[in-house]
Amino acid sequence: MGKLNELTISAASKGLKEKKFSSVDLLKDCLAAIEAKNGELNAFVTVDEKGAMETAEAVDKKIAAGEKISVLAGIPCGVKDLICTKGVRTTCCSPILKDFVPPYDATVIEKLKAQDMVMIGKTNLDEFACGGSSEHSCFGPTKNPFDLGRVAGGSSGGSAAAVTANMCMYTLGTDTGGSIRLPASFCGNYGMKVTYGRVSRSGVNAMASSWDTIGHFTKSTEDIATVLQAIAGKDRRDLTTPDVKVPDYNGFLGKDVKGMKIGLPKQYFGEGVQKEIKEAVMAKVAILEKAGAEVMEVDLPSTKYAVAVYYVSIPAELSANLERFDGIRYGKKPASDPKDLMDFYCEARGEGFGDEIKRRIMIGTYVLSAGYYDAYYKKAQKVRTVIVNEFADAFKKVDVMIGPVSPIPPFRIGEFMDDPLAMYMADALTIPVNAAGVPALAVPAGKDKAGLPIGLQIIAPQFEEGKCIQVSDFLEKN
Ligand code: GLN
Repeated sequence: MGKLNELTISAASKGLKEKKFSSVDLLKDCLAAIEAKNGELNAFVTVDEKGAMETAEAVDKKIAAGEKISVLAGIPCGVKDLICTKGVRTTCCSPILKDFVPPYDATVIEKLKAQDMVMIGKTNLDEFACGGSSEHSCFGPTKNPFDLGRVAGGSSGGSAAAVTANMCMYTLGTDTGGSIRLPASFCGNYGMKVTYGRVSRSGVNAMASSWDTIGHFTKSTEDIATVLQAIAGKDRRDLTTPDVKVPDYNGFLGKDVKGMKIGLPKQYFGEGVQKEIKEAVMAKVAILEKAGAEVMEVDLPSTKYAVAVYYVSIPAELSANLERFDGIRYGKKPASDPKDLMDFYCEARGEGFGDEIKRRIMIGTYVLSAGYYDAYYKKAQKVRTVIVNEFADAFKKVDVMIGPVSPIPPFRIGEFMDDPLAMYMADALTIPVNAAGVPALAVPAGKDKAGLPIGLQIIAPQFEEGKCIQVSDFLEKN
């Protein structure tokens, strides 16, 4: 058929139900896009053509038999390669897990499989999700579909680029400090960072357990609602998923924004944020204001501490989570011939982890060590609480907040590789949202003069993803 891969989930699903094309047709066009573009983009690290084809054929049989199918049935999806997929290699893009094939599915995968997802393959990321550019992957960087000399963002860069390049209709990712929103913004698509606990983390390799969230990339707001509906909710295997009702997210589509109170955090429009980016975001805010939303400035004074809080807390949690990879219980055995057990551990971890991971393990163990725990880790926890409270205060005055996702446009491959601090600052506006544990949706906000995408984020109170969807859908349609 050709070009079916460019459809959104909702359009593809409609076509399937009306028998205009089959799930196999959809899949073939996606596979053709992967064949044509993955060589240069490096968005997928594993493609499960056989498994995907089997499910697509099974869905086509169901449709032919007149069975009722879900919206996601037969729709090709890519999965960030740190989410466990039974029988399909899950590497976290780390040498230490390069041959790992999980014996079970993550809860999100189970839920999507129950709706007949077509899992087309696994997408590239920064090793163990640590990075903002996808350059820290043992498979090499993902490139930006708008400019192959630039990064796709990270850590879920492969998931973002795959959607933009129409290699599949949607992808899953994770956002611990911005890893869905930053690449969504750099690649010009929609990216949902959910409330901490809204989506089960079971079966997803832990980066920083008190920050990690699972979300998704799509080509439209409606699709954001559809996928969220499928993956949200309590899971007995993840006790941080509370029993908060999952609303009907479709119910937030097609609503107006009249009377809605929209806060603009003044720190999100300050120094360091590029003028063109501020203007693009303000142009979208003007649309909302014209439609009757009430726009006001809000104050999140501790925004400037968020990156510091993050880079103390994250390495601490990461270093603890990565302890299990010792080459015995988990992870690859060393290739060398170790002389004793300690040497075995050192070799396994020395060979198995990349530079950024080693840097974070060293920082993490340092801030947790007896002499420094109070000065660093404990202090960071206290400042995190201040940030949580500032968000809660702001949400007493407004329904949602809007700001840029990134202070800068997609940077050049290699630009920040020798300057980790500069790379960390790309997340200056995404990290506070993770610290507060609230949801935010990255939404396309046009392009800059160089033709590179700009993204804005709509931030809502805990468990109110619906409000992000409402505002995003309004912007998409107006
Ligand atoms: N870029 C951030 C980091 O390097 C965010 C990563 C993430 O959200 N997984 O830690």
